[in-house]
Amino acid sequence: MREIWQDYFAELPEVRLGARGQRTLVPVLDFAIGGEEFITMAGPCSVETERQLIATAHHVHRAGARVLRGGAFKPRSSPYAFQGLGVEGLKLLAAARHETGLAIVTEVMSERDVSLVADYADILQIGSRSMENYSLLEAAAKSGRPILLKRGMVATIADLLHSAQIVLENGNPNVILCERGIRTFETAMRNTFDAAGIALLKQVTHLPVIADPSHAAGHRELVPALARIGIAAGADGLLVEVHPNPDKAWSDGAQSLDFAEFDGMMAALEPWIELRDIACIEERPNRREPSGLHPAEAVR
Ligand code: PEP
Ligand code: MN
Repeated sequence: MREIWQDYFAELPEVRLGARGQRTLVPVLDFAIGGEEFITMAGPCSVETERQLIATAHHVHRAGARVLRGGAFKPRSSPYAFQGLGVEGLKLLAAARHETGLAIVTEVMSERDVSLVADYADILQIGSRSMENYSLLEAAAKSGRPILLKRGMVATIADLLHSAQIVLENGNPNVILCERGIRTFETAMRNTFDAAGIALLKQVTHLPVIADPSHAAGHRELVPALARIGIAAGADGLLVEVHPNPDKAWSDGAQSLDFAEFDGMMAALEPWIELRDIACIEERPNRREPSGLHPAEAVR
């Protein structure tokens, strides 16, 4: 870790860069998060129907995603909004994995549901509204599943890392951090995307960092730009909301990409991912030369 951060993050011995001698690679099915491969996680905000989920799974798989996202238990700001399909949603996610080979990430909201969700999911998502729920973090850690830890909407980087530390202290080394935007005075966007937070996290911790441009933006028009910014800041992957018909989505339609928009974004991201490989040459474990050139030559 850079010296200037030593004191600031002094209470976080386990998550600090250098604590393990190398960066953390989180194993999921037959791949890893935090290494050479840029990982895209995509899918609907909520699991709605079999048709919606399976069509989305096939589509994002063909476009290069490795992980299917989809909420079965939904934390909603309004008690009257759709709360998720629960166990039916988990079963549909497992069916989508069976059909496509995609890994599954889905949120667990309550300590009570951890073992149920862990039976179906490859990665447990801890949502922004739950980031400081320490009993949930402990239970999720003890499930042994990798944890996608979303930054709380009013959490500092140190708060996020404290929550990560709780998971590590409970015997689970496989934490993936997620920047999804924070609350500021700005109201034109749902949240404010903290790209500097991603860059900082890559400097101070050995844990992988994923960018969620969808919840940061709140508007689908901004999602590709925020995805590019996330990659440029050093993110190890993306978490993106995709829906077959966003205008009819049961949650977060305004920020969801349709299939054509997702394809367009993925194609446009390719050169940015290639550049990330070059820029981060010293930081990534076991990486290969993207073009066979020395990085200094490759960027010319
Ligand atoms: C989500 O991923 O759909 C979600 C609810 O995210 P967050 O916890 O970041 O609001
Ligand atoms: Mn959502």
